[in-house]
This record gives sequence, structure tokens and C-alpha cells, in this order.
Amino acid sequence: HRRRLSAQVGGPGRTADGHPVKLLVNLGAPAELPAAAAVDSEGVGLFRTEFLYLDREKAPTREEQTAAYREVFAAFAGRRVVVRTLDAGADKPLPFATASDEQNPALGVRGLRTARRDPQLLETQLAAIAAAAHGSDADVWVMAPMVSVPGEAAAFAEQVKAHGLRTAGAMVEVPAAALRAGDLARRCDFLSIGTNDLAQYAFAADRTLSSLAELLDPWQPALLELVRTAAEAGAAQGRPVGVCGEAAADPLLALVLVGLGVTSLSAAPGCLGDVRASLASHGLDDCRRLAGLALAAPDAAAAREAVREAAA
Ligand code: PEP
Ligand code: MG
Repeated sequence: HRRRLSAQVGGPGRTADGHPVKLLVNLGAPAELPAAAAVDSEGVGLFRTEFLYLDREKAPTREEQTAAYREVFAAFAGRRVVVRTLDAGADKPLPFATASDEQNPALGVRGLRTARRDPQLLETQLAAIAAAAHGSDADVWVMAPMVSVPGEAAAFAEQVKAHGLRTAGAMVEVPAAALRAGDLARRCDFLSIGTNDLAQYAFAADRTLSSLAELLDPWQPALLELVRTAAEAGAAQGRPVGVCGEAAADPLLALVLVGLGVTSLSAAPGCLGDVRASLASHGLDDCRRLAGLALAAPDAAAAREAVREAAA
């Protein structure tokens, strides 16, 4: 009995019947690193690199970036680190990387699109990641934010591999990318769903407006439908499909995401324990049944309620 209990509170994520679900942490600022590394996880599922670029007049040098990435890779030696390349623009404006004349910055040159205007920014960042990965014991994966079409995933993966980095992925944050996730997955090694932006773009609701929180609720069945579409398409191509948006932090919603076919969950370090415990007390069939209930609900509140009742 004691062994069963300890299996539930630690170690790799798995459902009650042993279906593995990688549990990873989101990492944003250097100050978070010690606590994030100390948490029982299989690594970092979303390393937001924007902190390196904030409050500056120009981009950090390759050497500066390499030193910062090295620290993270060292702290996660033996584990996976998914580095998300610079996501400038919209809610993360940077003076040297964001156009000031856009009327709709969330729909403008942001995320991977920044590299169209300034290819050197991405090139330098990839060189820095590659230099830091070289000789490190972390399993370094690299992914691009705001990928909309398969061609972007292909070009990004090619560029990542030209730097000697082995694993390249695309974030699914735009409904078009979710709808055509199979085409994206064929061109790279993994997909990672960013539910914050995916909700924003699916519901045409600015993610920074608390007055629209109801539309941005990650329990929205339409959002879950996009997650299912992406997860199934990724699985058909033999690619892992994770969730790294805030949705992954909700222990009840985590069951639904796994039921929809998601293979990893990345959340704030403090949330992982509850997510792990939730998974450990439900089998995969259970998760699939709960996912069906959520998808069949007319709205977010009904989805949450239906799953809460059925999971109890
Ligand atoms: C997301 O959009 O869900 C995501 C994980 O990226 P960010 O919140 O940094 O935009
Ligand atoms: Mg995002």
C-alpha cells in the first residue's frame, strides 16, 4: 500500500492503468530556475526565452544567450528542455523586434514571424542554443511560437537542424495550425499546443482582457475540439503532442487533455503535483470518457461541471 501511495505522489506521470504522460514545467525567468529544477518533473516543456530580451535596446549577444541557456541545461541535466524561440510582439512587445505601426499587434508580425523581418535574431538565438546544448547533458528540443502554416514549420525545422540541434517542433497556437496539424507534424518532430493563444485566436478574444475571461476559458468545448484535432493528427504522424498553455495546470482538465490524446503536460512547477495525482487516480479509458463529456457540453461551465461530476 505504501508503495502505491508513493507511486502516486512522485515519479513520471502516468494514468492509473500506466499510460505515460510526461509532466514538465514551464520556465520563464532565471529566478524561477532553482525551484523549477527541484520539482519532480521530466524536464521543461516550455522555456520562455523572452526574459533575455526584455528591457533592452538591442538583442542580447550570442555569448550572453549561450551563458543563460547553459545554466538552464545544467540545472536540467539528464532531463528534457524544450526551448521556445523568441516570441516577441503582441502581449510581449520589444522595442527592437516589434513594429510600432501595427493596428492589430496580436495579428501582426509576432512570434516566428519576427524572423521574416529580422532573420538574424533567430539565427543568433539558434546558434546560442546549439552552443549551450553542445556538451550539455540535457535533451534539448527547440520550438517556434506562432506557426500558422506547414511551410513555416518546415523552414524552422531545417534551420534548427542546420545548427546541429536534433529536435525541432512547432507550437499550435493558431486555429489554422490546429486544423492542419498533420501537415505541420510531417515537417517537424513534435507539436506543443499553447492554449492561451489558441483560445485568443479561436474566440477572437484578446487574452489580456479580463472582461473576456469567459471566452478565454480553457474548458471551452471549441478549444478542446481544436486540441483533439491536433492531438489526433500528431498521433497519426507518430509525433508527440503536448500542451504547454495554462490549461495543463488544471488537474481536472488534465484528464480531459489526456483523453483527447495529448502526450505531455507542461505547467507552472507548483501545479505538477496535483496534476500527477489526478492522472494517477484515473485510467486512460476514464480520461477518454471525460473528454467525450467535455466535447459534448454546450459551453465551458457545463463542460467543467459534467467532468467534475463524472470524475468524482
Ligand atoms: C500559449 O500561448 O499558450 C503559450 C504557452 O505561450 P505564451 O503564453 O508564452 O504566449
Ligand atoms: Mg503563446
